[in-house]
Amino acid sequence: MENFVYTGMPARVVFGDGALARVGDELTRLGARRVLVITTPHQAADGRALAANLSAHDPSLYAGAVMHTPVDVTEQALEVVRERGVDCLVALGGGSTIGLAKAIALRTDLPQVAVPTTYAGSEMTPILGETRDGVKTTQKSMKVLPEVVIYDVGLTMTLPAELSGTSGINAIAHCVEALYAQEANPIIAMLAEQGIAALGRALPGIALDPGDRAARSDAQYGAFLAGACLGAVGMALHHKLCHTIGGTFDLPHAETHTIVLPHALAYNGPAVPKAAATVAVALGVADAPGGLFDLAGKVGARRALRDIGMPESGIDRATDLALANPYWNPRPLERDGIRALIARAWAGEEPSVPAA
Ligand code: NAD
Repeated sequence: MENFVYTGMPARVVFGDGALARVGDELTRLGARRVLVITTPHQAADGRALAANLSAHDPSLYAGAVMHTPVDVTEQALEVVRERGVDCLVALGGGSTIGLAKAIALRTDLPQVAVPTTYAGSEMTPILGETRDGVKTTQKSMKVLPEVVIYDVGLTMTLPAELSGTSGINAIAHCVEALYAQEANPIIAMLAEQGIAALGRALPGIALDPGDRAARSDAQYGAFLAGACLGAVGMALHHKLCHTIGGTFDLPHAETHTIVLPHALAYNGPAVPKAAATVAVALGVADAPGGLFDLAGKVGARRALRDIGMPESGIDRATDLALANPYWNPRPLERDGIRALIARAWAGEEPSVPAA
């Protein structure tokens, strides 16, 4: 066995159809007496319904979570926390809602119960991204890692089919980069392989029938594992490219990941053949980048950055930005190869290994 370092993230995970009914028991376990349920405006009705079942924990609702966790929204929510004497947070929603609970926890150290309704995976990470005056910064702190995570497939049934596909491939991206991360280790590799297999199996089924509960449950399990991968090890070229391209051209997050992933793996694959082979086995295909490209097609996702709003003139700009601040990657960042990768992703071509 090779040497490795593994840091486990402490979290209690309750997974199952109907697990939402367990929120009250988990709050009792945490000794919570006055809870704040947090949602987006869009999911306020779900938050009210949940709060209605938590009367033993004197609940109130804050339904103001928005994308990118702006600090002014966090400050408003903190007012409610102080006024009400809240001693525990319950986040019901996707990464935006969970982000707000994390931002409150960072400032108060309150315990959190996260009840995710998307495949973003934030609930399993000690990472918080916040926006102040339009500038997003990311930090890591164990204070923001939720104490309890409750996965109930029932909450994901309303996730639109298209978003399920791209959000699920975004989760696969966490697993893929975890396999060749700087801190890669055999424990996380097991989670990553299982995560890719579960999502790779489930996502085409959801595209065919968004009401397929078994496929939804598999996808949620895969998303849980992907979140655990994202929380445990650092990411590399793919996440950096998506962050840069998405931020510069204001492109949708999950769709950008879906388009870039096959090309990023084609670039890195030769440097990490074992990781690429693991992805291929998990997907049940001969070629990992090609398998990811086909999966995007099967879920009906767009496969060209030009189709989601990136101008052709952006290829050179994105290349410059991707090379501007060096970061760790298993294959050195070579201008010609990175430009070729971005150009193929822009045009929606099949992935191929850019020349070294
Ligand atoms: P989101 O939380 O922004 O949700 C998008 C919209 O979908 C919201 O209006 C929400 O109310 C709605 N929605 C959520 N679940 C639904 C469901 N089941 N049915 C119908 N509608 C539903 O989207 P997201 O992709 O989960 O999160 C994205 C955010 O999370 C980004 O800001 C991203 O940076 C962050 N994120 C953070 C981490 C981390 O580790 N810190 C990890 C992944 C993502």
